[in-house]
Amino acid sequence: MVSSVTEKTRDWLKIRDDFPILNSVDARGQRLAFLDSAASSQKPESVIAAVDCYYRETNANIHRGVYDLSERATAQYEAARHMVADFVNAASAREIVFVRNTTEAINLVAQTWGRRNIAAGDLIVVTTMDHHSNLVPWQLLADEKGARIEAVRITDDGRLDMSHLGELLAMGPQLVAFPHVSNSLGTINPAAEIVRMAHDAGAVTVVDGAQSVPHMPVDVRELDTDFLAFSGHKMLGPMGSGALYGKLALLEDMPPFMGGGGMIRKVSIERSTFADVPARFEAGTPSVADAVGLGAAVEYLQQIGMAEVGEHEHNLTQLAVERLQGIPELRLYGPEKPGLRGGTLSFTLGDIHPHDVAAILNEENVAVRAGHHCCQPLMDRLGLVATTRASFYVYNDEDDVDRLVSGLRRAQAIFAA
Ligand code: PLP
Repeated sequence: MVSSVTEKTRDWLKIRDDFPILNSVDARGQRLAFLDSAASSQKPESVIAAVDCYYRETNANIHRGVYDLSERATAQYEAARHMVADFVNAASAREIVFVRNTTEAINLVAQTWGRRNIAAGDLIVVTTMDHHSNLVPWQLLADEKGARIEAVRITDDGRLDMSHLGELLAMGPQLVAFPHVSNSLGTINPAAEIVRMAHDAGAVTVVDGAQSVPHMPVDVRELDTDFLAFSGHKMLGPMGSGALYGKLALLEDMPPFMGGGGMIRKVSIERSTFADVPARFEAGTPSVADAVGLGAAVEYLQQIGMAEVGEHEHNLTQLAVERLQGIPELRLYGPEKPGLRGGTLSFTLGDIHPHDVAAILNEENVAVRAGHHCCQPLMDRLGLVATTRASFYVYNDEDDVDRLVSGLRRAQAIFAA
């Protein structure tokens, strides 16, 4: 309801002040309406300060120094791992592997678990709405092993076709990989149900959590997924931070991803033995400051509460949907039912090219994304080459929605002239 959004945004306005970049104005004195958090989020003071403080006061290589500074750096890095584990309710911090992003997390699973467990003729199930990051790693693996890939179809309103999923599961796949929340359609998929169905069919599951972990409570034990991949930079953390969650028994059974320092137990010229999990998957000097910054981001989000984050975005999205539906010729993609969608809205505006829409919004200092959003198979299914996408996060408010709507009306007026 509009009134409750207004109530909410009044409190939420304070959150915006925590983000220095959002307090900037453009040459025309317009404040930034940042509506591209699905690509990468802005960073609050506390995260910037954590990274800054790490370099000023703690910087040293970790795990091998016997001096105070290195021990402090190691402690901060491992504390961040515990915070991330707690954030997704992992049973142990050893189930969290630090990576650069979701892409790296999924490639890690494909190249380690996948190479060991996928054989010629095996079936890998993905979905039509997957981001390329959850398609291409499986294609590379399937090419190498001679495995097959099938994609779960989507319904016309942008939900997974669960009966088609059932048909594919009846074919006995080894792996089911799917997005928890679609980065293009905003669809929230019934992840726990899909995991249960996949497990019943004997498959291992990889949940792409790039668009869920930053925006809603995600509990890996409730989901029961085998793997969950997510990006720190999309959840207020530094660029170059991200994590892979994996069930300990699976991780322990997996060979290393990359070879080098930090991931070994004993090395001779001919061969090596490998460190325990998770060090086995973190070859070389890790991005310690970014992990520490991710810990600060987790702390910030926990202070707000992930249920509250989800509710705020839900309210803003509902408000935006109502207003966008009032714009003639605007076509919104994805589920109409509010409970089925997260804070990402993809749309087209008559026959105005999405890039032109985004460029006109940019003149108003409204930042949105236009393109295929790394979802070309989805665009093909929708018969589109591109959409304009607006996505919300903790720092957005009703004013951002107003600015989006008035910018779109201006785009229409320009193209009508
Ligand atoms: N999966 C989804 C659903 C995404 O939205 C994205 C990024 O937009 C990715 C994967 C890839 O994330 P990253 O670029 O951080 O690896």
